[in-house]
Amino acid sequence: MLLLNNHPSGRHFLQIPGPSPVPDRILRAMSLPTIDHRGPEFGVLGLKVLDGIRQIFRTKYPVVIYPASGTGAWEAALVNVLSPGDSVLMFETGHFASLWQKMALRLSLKPEFLSLPGVDAATGLPVAWRHGVDAEVIEKRLRADTGHAIKAVCVVHNETSTGVTSDIAAVRRAIDIAKHPALLLVDTISGLASADYRHDEWGVDVTVSGSQKGLMLPPGISFNALSPKAIEASKQAKLPKAFWAWDEIVEMNKSGYWPYTPNTNLLYGLSEALDMLLQQGLDTVFARHHRWAEGVRSAVQAWGLPIQCADANVYSPVLTGVVTPVGVDADQIRKLIHDRFDLSLGTGLGRVKGRMFRIGHLGDCNDLTLMAALSGVEMGLKLAGVPLAGSGVQAAMDFFAAHPTQRAALKVAA
Ligand code: PLP
Repeated sequence: MLLLNNHPSGRHFLQIPGPSPVPDRILRAMSLPTIDHRGPEFGVLGLKVLDGIRQIFRTKYPVVIYPASGTGAWEAALVNVLSPGDSVLMFETGHFASLWQKMALRLSLKPEFLSLPGVDAATGLPVAWRHGVDAEVIEKRLRADTGHAIKAVCVVHNETSTGVTSDIAAVRRAIDIAKHPALLLVDTISGLASADYRHDEWGVDVTVSGSQKGLMLPPGISFNALSPKAIEASKQAKLPKAFWAWDEIVEMNKSGYWPYTPNTNLLYGLSEALDMLLQQGLDTVFARHHRWAEGVRSAVQAWGLPIQCADANVYSPVLTGVVTPVGVDADQIRKLIHDRFDLSLGTGLGRVKGRMFRIGHLGDCNDLTLMAALSGVEMGLKLAGVPLAGSGVQAAMDFFAAHPTQRAALKVAA
């Protein structure tokens, strides 16, 4: 978009599952002058965002904020609690689970990658990339580990490459039922502040997240939420760490400062995002994403195309994966839609490249921006010659019209 000499009119439609569209209010907050990160004003900002972000993770324990992308926070989670050669149990749910597993290998850990076997007959996609984590498989594996060699279980809460969520409370129960001491590490980089997430209640030891999804910020900051057990483990862990080490950061955070130069302007944005999210209330925020997701799914179902998530219990409220018919290159359709309608959709990643595209429904969206995005998709599918069973745009209009938001319903009633 930015590379074009003739800038298109109107706004670009950024419907990828993160970075998500940033509200103007947050952009304005970030445009304020950068201040001294060791001065008195900064400490007030630091304490405010550290307190607010704990409420988003639903934790009373420390949350570490890094000036890094989510990948950095993945690494931080592993190096703070593990030692070279430690065994970790991971679960293949898609591209991001696979990347975290590769990172564990590079860090000299021994990841065991559990996976649901087989290929789905209807779509030709790997079964593992259409489902969430199976907690029973984890429980069985942990029961067999009588010597407690496994030091951590690592799972992705909202798999951004597939549009499938995983039941983190069920994974916690599996670890407890197996009476296994492994730590629970969870990536909710694309789930936080869009999908229900409870760090303390679900007994998660380290939660990893990032700024550019539900928090509605640009990329550039990421998080580790900690538990007391994780903090204890970090005192014994032997993997090399300096920049990522929690101890000095948590200590300096007590007064609202960091041991290095933090991302001041992104923290202004975070402060604004926290005000918006906490004023609305997290439950309202989650309900909004569920409603958008349902509207988008009603369109995909009307087109007659498979939703990548094969289990209706774990549809992602953040994004929907749309599977294209065999022989139809999903990336060609994305390119056509981008070029013709200035709309960006998420590409298929890893094992599903070319077989699906992703519609993000998070960040600064509303019913009408989503309707516009669905119109772009429907026009693109038709132009590409994909046979459609019916109009997804009509189905989504019907859905949104029949399901007013709580706020809209109150206004009409008044
Ligand atoms: N994990 C998940 C679930 C993600 O969606 C992403 C990025 O989209 C990452 C990890 C990697 O984060 P980043 O690209 O910010 O480094």
